[in-house]
Amino acid sequence: MEAEIVEQDIEKYLNDKLISCEKCHFCNTVCPIVESRVSQGPFGINRAIYYGLKWNEINEDLRNLVYSCTTCGKCNLMCKKVSRALPLTEVFEKAREYLLVEKMVGPMPEQVNVLKNMHVRGNPWGNPAHERTRWAEGLGVEFASKENRVDVLYFVGCACSYDPLAQRIAKNMVKILNQAGVNFGILQNETCSGHEAKRMGETGLFQYLSESNIAMFKEAGVSHIVTSDPHSFYSFTHEYPEWGNRVRVQHYTQFTNELIKEGKLRLRSEVNKRVTYHDPCYLGRHSGVFEEPRELIGQIPGVDLVEMENAKEDSNCCGMGGGRMWMEPPKGLLSSQVIAEKRVEQALDTKAEVLLTACPFCNITLSDAIKSMEKEGSIKVMDITELICSSLQ
Ligand code: SF4
Ligand code: SF4
Repeated sequence: MEAEIVEQDIEKYLNDKLISCEKCHFCNTVCPIVESRVSQGPFGINRAIYYGLKWNEINEDLRNLVYSCTTCGKCNLMCKKVSRALPLTEVFEKAREYLLVEKMVGPMPEQVNVLKNMHVRGNPWGNPAHERTRWAEGLGVEFASKENRVDVLYFVGCACSYDPLAQRIAKNMVKILNQAGVNFGILQNETCSGHEAKRMGETGLFQYLSESNIAMFKEAGVSHIVTSDPHSFYSFTHEYPEWGNRVRVQHYTQFTNELIKEGKLRLRSEVNKRVTYHDPCYLGRHSGVFEEPRELIGQIPGVDLVEMENAKEDSNCCGMGGGRMWMEPPKGLLSSQVIAEKRVEQALDTKAEVLLTACPFCNITLSDAIKSMEKEGSIKVMDITELICSSLQ
């Protein structure tokens, strides 16, 4: 009976939102997964959900469309600017929850194991949980605990814990925090923030993971978190409600900026590079952090920042958000690789030698795109921490 009520509530929510669509199609003009076809993209997905519910056609075709969205949020802004301000990303996530939890039609087949891995091993790749902190061996990083209170908890996130390319970001963070004399630590049993589980509609798993992390934060007496993962940053600041205002959460671009302004971190060496900056969707558009990363880049001696055609609020997605990192898009929709390559094209147009990011997932995706385009000789992806570390020497 209770399950039926939840199902009806979600159906009502979806209907109430989608009935007000003006069918203006403006949202489709900014979506990275389509060019301009009306049966896809935010307009196509929203109509498919609306009529799927109306005609009771809840099937795999609907699922494929609903899971094709990268949750980049560009359509939300467009709808807000020109029409009904429909929260399309939220609607699509709710539809994923409906398909997965109520109808057992979701997620995409390739995502099933990813969710299982998050549940069993605390990370999407299924790497052993006890290897999560292996990247920090030999670096003298302390574990925050009840007995070892720290001023700042560095929340590493899954990608920076396990992915060899992204681990460099975590190691850079250690250098930066040590150089600035910050009393920091990491969690010995850190687990996935659950952000991507929520994007894929697995709200129960998100709740389980968020509760596990919150329990550890409380146990270790954490009052200030700094993370290098925009996805965790977004979940902590927007989706870990019960915990809300009691803990200060910052992305590293915000914290490092402060350290420099307070004179705790000095950047000495000139790096002499022309760079451009890719706003990660969950740091930029979803969290409104546009200026701090640019300010931080501007503090690095010898850096010339040039903007891409689409920047800040209007930035284009790297293609891998919303669980697309772990699925093949349905036939007829742009692959994530093509979306990433389009973004790299924009970076190449600026004639920058470095494409800077502040997200491990964007870093992996854009680096792969540069390789597939055979443009390694023209541009290189770097996290901002890398340039900062070069300037510390
Ligand atoms: S911009 Fe908004 S109102 Fe217009 S088609 Fe898209 S969802 Fe509907
Ligand atoms: S959130 Fe981004 S990818 Fe998803 S439908 Fe909207 S514009 Fe397209």
